[in-house]
Amino acid sequence: MANPLDTAQAAGDTTISQEILDALTDVKLPRLKPKPIIKEWTSAQGWKIPLRRSHVVIVGSGAAGLRAAVELKRRDVEVTVVTQSAYGGTSACSGSDKQTLHTANTADRGDNFRSMADAIGAGGAMDKDTAYIEAVGSGRALSTLQFLGLPLPVDRYGGVLRYQTDHDEVGRATSCGPRTSRLMVKALAQEAIQLGIPLFNQTTAVRILVSAAPEPRVAGALCIDPGLRTESNPHGLLAYCADYLVLAAGGPGELYRDSVYPRNCFGSLGLALEAGIEAVNLTESQFGIGTSRDGFPWNLSGTYAQCMPYVYSVDEAGNERNFLASYYRTTQELVSNTFRKGYQWPSHATRMLNFGSSLFDLAVFREMQFGHKVYMDFNRNPVAVPGERAFDLTRLEPDVYAYLEKSGALLDTPIARLKKMNPLSIELYKQYKVDIEKHPLLFAMNNQHMNGGLAVDIWGQTSLNGCYAIGEAAGTHGVTRPGGAALNSGQVFGTRCAEHIAASQTAPQDMVQAGAAIQEGVQHIQSALKEASTLKPSAIKREVQARMSDAAGMICRADQISSALRDAQQLTQAIREQGVSFGATNFGVTQALQWRHNALASEAILSALDFYVAKGGGSRGARAICDASGECVPLTNEGPLEDYRFRRERAEDKDEQIVLKWVGSEFAVSIRTPRELEQKERPFFERHWPHFLTGSIYRAGT
Ligand SMILES: Cc1cc2nc3c(=O)[nH]c(=O)nc-3n(C[C@H](O)[C@H](O)[C@H](O)COP(=O)(O)OP(=O)(O)OC[C@H]3O[C@@H](n4cnc5c(N)ncnc54)[C@H](O)[C@@H]3O)c2cc1C
Repeated sequence: MANPLDTAQAAGDTTISQEILDALTDVKLPRLKPKPIIKEWTSAQGWKIPLRRSHVVIVGSGAAGLRAAVELKRRDVEVTVVTQSAYGGTSACSGSDKQTLHTANTADRGDNFRSMADAIGAGGAMDKDTAYIEAVGSGRALSTLQFLGLPLPVDRYGGVLRYQTDHDEVGRATSCGPRTSRLMVKALAQEAIQLGIPLFNQTTAVRILVSAAPEPRVAGALCIDPGLRTESNPHGLLAYCADYLVLAAGGPGELYRDSVYPRNCFGSLGLALEAGIEAVNLTESQFGIGTSRDGFPWNLSGTYAQCMPYVYSVDEAGNERNFLASYYRTTQELVSNTFRKGYQWPSHATRMLNFGSSLFDLAVFREMQFGHKVYMDFNRNPVAVPGERAFDLTRLEPDVYAYLEKSGALLDTPIARLKKMNPLSIELYKQYKVDIEKHPLLFAMNNQHMNGGLAVDIWGQTSLNGCYAIGEAAGTHGVTRPGGAALNSGQVFGTRCAEHIAASQTAPQDMVQAGAAIQEGVQHIQSALKEASTLKPSAIKREVQARMSDAAGMICRADQISSALRDAQQLTQAIREQGVSFGATNFGVTQALQWRHNALASEAILSALDFYVAKGGGSRGARAICDASGECVPLTNEGPLEDYRFRRERAEDKDEQIVLKWVGSEFAVSIRTPRELEQKERPFFERHWPHFLTGSIYRAGT
């Protein structure tokens, strides 16, 4: 980033130069080293497959995976990263107006980790020890990133600047601007390269290798690298033997048609479920407004909403509709809720009530259902509710007025307000050839994040011995999470899994067992791919994405989930019986296997939802469970929306987690109580020091 002291910035001048804007929005990532040559091969099922070994293999090179890699290497552990796309994924390619990192407060009087943990887990269904770990570990995660060069904003005394974000009553959020997570990837990738960590780009894990005896344990992963295709290895398979596998492959963003994930985010949910690994909280995801991945996928949170643009839709005949006026009763209410979308960004069913900020989301969702296109115009102020007074900066609700006044943004137009509060957010779209200073911005309601995922213990280890999951691959969040908690979790558990692996003494891998696992894996892949199958990846994609967006999006209809699940089960059964066809392109085989995984992930999510809804579960997190006998009805300016009557959240569901495990040909679903924080008393130095010195803190039961 440009150093203000190096530029001719006069004392007291806080004009943000183009150079500063560029450094925080146009973030170039470091060049990777070439892949080391292959020295070993193995034969499996008639194919000759390259073989590599590493004590630890990390799948994925987002902020979480790179963090684990750096932490392991610094502990002198042999580690390798395999990644589908080195700088793909959400960390490198996603963001928002001020992409948020949620951490304990470092300024003034510091923070209280117990209350921070309570806030992290406030939505329920979250392990209390995990919430505490994320709270107490956040300071270290943050300061290490600062040490590696992450340009987090601080005040003159070193305190990190903070603001309030979603599900955060205190103001624990901080940001480097729209591209915080890309800047994290940059800092961590530079360090990984400097430490000489091998990183295999365009290498996709497609099967987890499990050695069966003496007890099931991870043995590595089968990967596909199209560059390795030969006559005797037609799909470009690569066997990676490892004592530990860390899944850091991000979330299953391709599951939904309406999605703000970058393209080709499959995550590792299906991959891991297929290996029999347990998943948790799969009912929980985030949905919110953003620009679609058909263009530049980006969240429209924070100042994009707080500058209060005119939000309108255009119908098939080209007519402009001030549709929010049908929902909110007064111009002031409409405008204030547009503003609140900034820090109440993920949709939340209860906020659809009482003319709250998620009535905005529901209105956008309905416009999309009608086939209308929805826009934000930053050059026009919100248009008045008919019969109401016009938009006026002196008639805002008190919280809105106070925020704009403090920001010095009580200015005439949305674009002037946005420029004052966050010029980076305008610059960013410009870099993708969208000039919001001149043109309205098309947006939609999208799926954005998966709170659930693979079930892990307090070190990030999954139910498969030796296999860890971190970042969005792990189901560490509860029903809600404060904005920025996803990035924090990836950093904290990236560190935790590295500590745990470094402290564990595994016997060297049994190569006979590993060889058997490779044979089984290759056989599986051969039977999963069938050139002549009528099941094409493109058709599976269309079917899965439509089903997930229509039946398992922010609006879920209680009476439609079972049939959606049945359809999903039929699809995965057909895939198992017939195999998936694959194209001849470089990534044809990879995509075929990933769509097989995604179909299974979709069945898992629908199984969890069906189970939850069938036992009476209500609306929580971002999903409204619509039901004709539900207790809640969203009211609008034009009357109640009976069609969106929904079930109320039940308090008892907060104390349960839904766990899924793939057993042969179906999912076993069970319920468990979230873990408590066992540390009831304050640790006493002399008593607890030996636990650290002897490494007993890493072993269960201590
Ligand atoms: C628009 C948007 C805005 C967001 N804003 C915020 C925010 O403000 N604050 C916040 O905390 N979170 C935010 N999130 C969520 C957050 O960005 C992600 O949860 C986080 O970046 C995930 O990091 P990760 O390292 O787990 O995965 P990713 O960054 O997605 O990285 C996954 C990596 O794994 C690779 N990979 C995938 N599958 C395989 C495979 N089978 N084999 C090998 N490699 C594989 C990918 O190529 C990629 O390199 C946002 C998400 C989106 C979409």
